[in-house]
Amino acid sequence: MAAMNMNREQFDEMIRSGKTFLVDYWAPWCGYCRKIEAAYEAVSETWGRSIPVAKINIDEEEQLSDSQGIEIIPTLVLYKDGKAAATLRVPESRDMIEQFLTDSLEAASETSDPEPSRVYDTVIIGGGPAGYTAALYAARAGLDTIVVEKLSAGGQMALTHQIDNYPGFEDGIDGYTLAEKMRKQAERFGASTLYAEVVRAKLEGQPKAVETSQGTIYGRTLILATGASPRELGVPGEEELTGRGVAYCAACDGMFYKDKTVVVAGGGNSAVADALILSRIAKKVILVHRRDTLRATKIYHDLLQETPNIEFCWNSVVTELHHKETLTGIRLKDVHTGEETDLPCDGIFVSVGRKPSTSLFEGQLELDKAGYIAAGETTETSVSGVYAIGDVRTKPLRQVVTAVSDGAAAVHMAEVYLAEAGR
Ligand SMILES: Cc1cc2nc3c(=O)[nH]c(=O)nc-3n(C[C@H](O)[C@H](O)[C@H](O)COP(=O)(O)OP(=O)(O)OC[C@H]3O[C@@H](n4cnc5c(N)ncnc54)[C@H](O)[C@@H]3O)c2cc1C
Repeated sequence: MAAMNMNREQFDEMIRSGKTFLVDYWAPWCGYCRKIEAAYEAVSETWGRSIPVAKINIDEEEQLSDSQGIEIIPTLVLYKDGKAAATLRVPESRDMIEQFLTDSLEAASETSDPEPSRVYDTVIIGGGPAGYTAALYAARAGLDTIVVEKLSAGGQMALTHQIDNYPGFEDGIDGYTLAEKMRKQAERFGASTLYAEVVRAKLEGQPKAVETSQGTIYGRTLILATGASPRELGVPGEEELTGRGVAYCAACDGMFYKDKTVVVAGGGNSAVADALILSRIAKKVILVHRRDTLRATKIYHDLLQETPNIEFCWNSVVTELHHKETLTGIRLKDVHTGEETDLPCDGIFVSVGRKPSTSLFEGQLELDKAGYIAAGETTETSVSGVYAIGDVRTKPLRQVVTAVSDGAAAVHMAEVYLAEAGR
């Protein structure tokens, strides 16, 4: 059952009735809302038979969302007996939502076991551009294929508002739309998707086992496409302040800092791109960088010079986050003199690089010094029948175009492996 779009009238009616129902407050411009969309729809499929599951667009129902105290999106609110009974801010996975519902309603969720006796030719962990390209090639090759994805198709790409360097789209394309196209294309040839989080994987032996939050599935080959996630600053309080002044994606959360003062920490292309996005929304943007020049490519330097509301704080690192309920400022340290200064601000966007999502596989296969899965152009890992693709593997350039290329290579190698093994 798909989540219904609810308006004020319908909301009031539900409140009057005293029924239990779930609402996702969202907006079309919110990257995290779009990322959680598929997980929310999956929850709606499971829970929709017992409680109504709805969505409210805060742009269309501004008064209503203000009256409900919605300060950050996506926010899920469970209403019971005519009032808000429980709130979940910025959920990160389907499991988090299900756990929230289970805890709130004190009822066990019924999860389906995705055919435990079946052994897939290939199980792909991660539904980013790498994973869905592998799924496309595998399904077209006639392999029984499943993608396991904890959120929604697209991974990091789905957070990107405009992709101009992926060929075939002369006007560019937004990452979410491209992700949906990739998923549908793979599914057209028979690949399926299981929206679940992989919590453990047994890479050695046959069949290979992938334990997910929705049960265990088995594959003759495994394709690891878990990508990467933002690296934290590593200062005290960072985790607790995430969503309350600390953010990692300007395109997703920038709108919360309209006419405010924000800091961007970092000096590479992503940091500069974030600063430019924020300069169109915030009153002032301060770029804090540990060196006295940027690592970003030349094209960005010119753009920065033309942007009057971006200031720079060179040779500085963030050492503390000041806060009350939300962030109020940061403490900076000069890397040469050691001098410390306080800088008041409303938000900090952390853009200090990314880290590979490899914790599931540690100790089972070879990683490189930086923690990426050691695999070359063939995508073969140190374990036979297991391939690593996209941002999670050792490579010089992490982009959509290189991720999709890996997907094709991995399936070619998996086909050879399956043929040699007579499977
Ligand atoms: C803000 C931003 C802007 C970018 N802009 C561009 C651009 O303009 N052009 C370009 O080419 N590239 C761009 N990139 C880089 C590009 O998005 C990545 O290189 C690409 O998405 C990598 O694809 P991937 O499939 O390897 O991994 P990801 O996109 O990271 O996908 C990994 C997937 O695995 C899933 N996953 C992880 N762990 C688990 C688990 N345990 N269980 C189930 N699922 C799991 C994640 O939910 C995710 O969906 C940008 C990246 C960012 C962050």
